[in-house]
Amino acid sequence: MPAPTASQPLVTLDRVRTAREVADETGVDLLVVTPGSDLRYLCGYDAHAMERLTALAVPRRGEPFLVVPRLEAPMVEASPAGALGLEVLAWDETDDPFALLAGAATARLGSAPARVAVGDRTWALHALGVQGALPGAALELGSPVVDRLRMVKTPAEVAELAAAGAAIDRVHARMGEWLRAGRTEAEVGADIAAAILAEGHVSVDFTIVGSGPNGASPHHELSDRVVGAGDVVVVDIGGETATGYRSDCTRTYAVGRDPDGEVAEWYAVLQEAQRAATAAVRPGVTAEQVDAAAREVITAAGWGEYFIHRTGHGIGLDTHEAPYIVAGNELPLVAGMAFSVEPGIYLPGRCGARIEDIVVCTPDGATALNEGPRELVVLPG
Ligand code: ZN
Ligand code: ZN
Ligand code: ZN
Repeated sequence: MPAPTASQPLVTLDRVRTAREVADETGVDLLVVTPGSDLRYLCGYDAHAMERLTALAVPRRGEPFLVVPRLEAPMVEASPAGALGLEVLAWDETDDPFALLAGAATARLGSAPARVAVGDRTWALHALGVQGALPGAALELGSPVVDRLRMVKTPAEVAELAAAGAAIDRVHARMGEWLRAGRTEAEVGADIAAAILAEGHVSVDFTIVGSGPNGASPHHELSDRVVGAGDVVVVDIGGETATGYRSDCTRTYAVGRDPDGEVAEWYAVLQEAQRAATAAVRPGVTAEQVDAAAREVITAAGWGEYFIHRTGHGIGLDTHEAPYIVAGNELPLVAGMAFSVEPGIYLPGRCGARIEDIVVCTPDGATALNEGPRELVVLPG
């Protein structure tokens, strides 16, 4: 897939325009997003969240605009947002930025907005500030508007996720250098973190090294436990690339020797479940059907009670975002949706295993953005 070029930028004005259309369609008068992935997605401005208000306001009619502290206006211009030509309303230290935002939105709409959607991760400080400046408005979450866009990746975004996936695959391919008997999870994790950066990420999101019984805790991160020969070890790692897109990949390893026979038995079931869920992916299939495809295999083999989490989550500028691959989510998949397929089996007090790939839904089914063996890889001890 081609990388985005100057002629095909990652962030275009289409995004705010589409957000405006979706807001209008759903009856939202004003969408307000603040620093974080929603802001970066919609206009390319990767700002740090802080107490001074920075916000993109998208009224259902009229032009969207940015409200930024005057001291940071040059940063907007220097970011991809600067090329979009969005109007920037800069506020001075003693101005009321919420009044500025409310006034500009009301002028565009012709009357004060009644329904105002704010980003799901907008600070309460800012959401309540908007509410205070628009006392007649009802606040609601922005995700129903923004997720409609963010869930479906453009080819340029898929290329970014594929690059992130290839980078994290290179880290997994080197696992034998670090994951050895006699080393602590923390030592192994530090080496993995350095490699995540060396292999093309700008930051590390998480390094889970769940050895032996720690592997039975799906979100265990690192501990001082010493990895032992014969341990089964869950390694789930991911980071952020320069464009903000994330990697997230789990492989399960055995250290030094094959684990006992029962592990091989249920690991084969897990591998089949991961295959079945990946094979179930296609446009029109619902998110919960993909979850069920994995769960049915594990349940039928008698291990269902040990698969204690959803099958997957969307990924993009956030590691966890819509669509969530979980029972109850009747959202039909659409080509361009990117998400993890990561069933696991967790045996408390003993060990666990998970196999996780990021996949993209295409008209022909799933394309995996992670490669590398999904078998239980036995590393030299
Ligand atoms: Zn997780
Ligand atoms: Zn993961
Ligand atoms: Zn994941």
